[in-house]
Amino acid sequence: MDEDFNIDDWEFARPLPASPGGTVPSIHIPPELNPDPCIVSLEKWCRACGEPMNSGESFESVFLDEDDGDVRVVGSQEYPAREDEDEDEDDGSDMRAIRRPFFNWDPFGRSVKPNHLESAAIHTECFNLFRRNCPDDKVAPRLLLAGRWRSPWEGAPKFILTVNSDVTSLIRLAAIACNLPQLELLPMELKRLVFEELITRPCALTRYYSVVSLAADSTRRPLDEQFSMPIAKVAHWERGQGPASEEEVLPPVIRIIIDSQGISRIERLAKRPEALSQPSDTELYIVESQETLKHVQVQFQSGLARLRHFGDAKATYLLPWDTPSPPVVEHLLSPTAGRPSHARVMQFATIDGSKISGITFFLTWANHYASPRPAGPQFFMHAHTSKEPSARSTFDKLLYPQDWAGVWNYVPFPHNDRLICFGIEHESDTNLTVLFRFEKAGDVMVGIQYDRYPNRTQTVWAASSKLQLICGLSESGSVITLDAEADGSTTPDRPFRLPFRQTVVPYSHGGCLSWAPLEHVARLRLFTDEDAGVCRGLLLEYEDGGQRAVGECRVGLDVERAYVRPVGLCIGRKSGFSRWSIRVRVDGQAEHTHSERNWQCYSMRGTLASWQKRGYSTLKVVVDDDAGVGVGVGGGTAAAAAAAAADDGVDDDDVPF
Ligand SMILES: [Zn+2]
Ligand SMILES: [Zn+2]
Repeated sequence: MDEDFNIDDWEFARPLPASPGGTVPSIHIPPELNPDPCIVSLEKWCRACGEPMNSGESFESVFLDEDDGDVRVVGSQEYPAREDEDEDEDDGSDMRAIRRPFFNWDPFGRSVKPNHLESAAIHTECFNLFRRNCPDDKVAPRLLLAGRWRSPWEGAPKFILTVNSDVTSLIRLAAIACNLPQLELLPMELKRLVFEELITRPCALTRYYSVVSLAADSTRRPLDEQFSMPIAKVAHWERGQGPASEEEVLPPVIRIIIDSQGISRIERLAKRPEALSQPSDTELYIVESQETLKHVQVQFQSGLARLRHFGDAKATYLLPWDTPSPPVVEHLLSPTAGRPSHARVMQFATIDGSKISGITFFLTWANHYASPRPAGPQFFMHAHTSKEPSARSTFDKLLYPQDWAGVWNYVPFPHNDRLICFGIEHESDTNLTVLFRFEKAGDVMVGIQYDRYPNRTQTVWAASSKLQLICGLSESGSVITLDAEADGSTTPDRPFRLPFRQTVVPYSHGGCLSWAPLEHVARLRLFTDEDAGVCRGLLLEYEDGGQRAVGECRVGLDVERAYVRPVGLCIGRKSGFSRWSIRVRVDGQAEHTHSERNWQCYSMRGTLASWQKRGYSTLKVVVDDDAGVGVGVGGGTAAAAAAAAADDGVDDDDVPF
């Protein structure tokens, strides 16, 4: 079983009808092998490893020939470059959808096109790996079944899930693959560090692990006949088992558990679970009443299961959650719930406000020149927890693969401050900013400040100890709805507002504003992008325990430098406003001068404000909301400040406000 895959060993497909829509690329078999073209549909991810297909990569197409029911393989094709005729919005990813019905969010149960083909695109190396781990000669049908049934139902989107693996088996695989047997002898603590490093960043090893475990799960049982039954009669099922036994009377609530390989379990509950639980990144949960799922069937085959809609009833939306005890969607409080954006939600992610040390927002937004009424910002979010203290894991998983470039915005949740309320500022179903009011740190507004949304509304929830943020994720992982489960909606004693007059900031441009008072600062942390040598963010820790971030603080990525009890700041602008440099003066330093021009010196008074767009950032001190820049206090004659912290040295052109 160890020889390489040889295309000559495989039977070629007969010509298949083209799918409607005209966007299906043809895969032409060379004429000497087959005079007729064979046409298959492509997806943008590999159904064996779950990773994206990149243009130029070699792949196999495994598909069911509906003429004779055989599963066939067309081998070693080069994955085509991006198809521009697709109507999908550019989501920034490298590869665009080619055949729409496969990639879009289809409500569960919508009828599929009659000539729809069951097919799976597989990296050639994943195909060979699966083949080597398949105990019999049924490689193609097993791979097609396991690959297609990674989707919990036909037409399901590719959910955002981390491969479910444990430390011991992944380290064992790493030890074998890298010929490093001593890896297995490491103490558990170190093994866990290596594991975290491997699992949070897609790499050859996790890909290998995915394919091997898919092969193990799908070859545990003989390739048997498919069997279907209404989910209403399924008492309990786990992957690897045969069809569930039919029972007539069962508890009324059904929980379907999904992992990166598809449906892993089906359970029964006497009632909807209420207790909040920690979110999972390896499993998703659908909890619905038996009544809601009355048109749902479960297909079983060879130890796997998949859902199917039956009957003429209208389609059912199945929305998975990252928690086994999700709230009822209808109970969400956001006024944007149920609006058009909600229909694009693929899955819900939850953030327990009491278990995090901060949230990083990744923001992009349309250029204001492009439209008189630009779309709202695109948000991605990372909750900083003890398990995932750095936003790098989210960046690597979601943003890096789609060449994301935008603004990072960090909101600290220090343990000695308390969130009083949380809200959103929105217009229609467009979320514009996310609002946080902390007892000590005050108001934080994350998002894009435009002056082009005159009818914006603020909706605010009281933040009790059990506040849970609920993020509706799009297929790219961006947050398109934001709700909360809390004690109830509330009217805050005062609305959120910017602490400046609009003349202070280039408001009409659209940009991300952050600010922090300079009084009572106990410690100041500078965040420097070491690769670029540029400082882009500051985090101010106050005497009372509150914290505020200004600019871009990439917590866990940037190099941090902390200053205790700063007495002043020097802000340098190199011939323009688009970049700044900062030096922090701490107690005990003598008066100073700057040899270069364009430096201004400030005492710790007033408000520090930063305005960010992509590749463009300002930093200024505003005193007493006078719409003016604070008066410099430096200019002494003694030695220059010793605390040179970060100086990007970039000479940018002036960017007028
Ligand atoms: Zn693959
Ligand atoms: Zn100075």
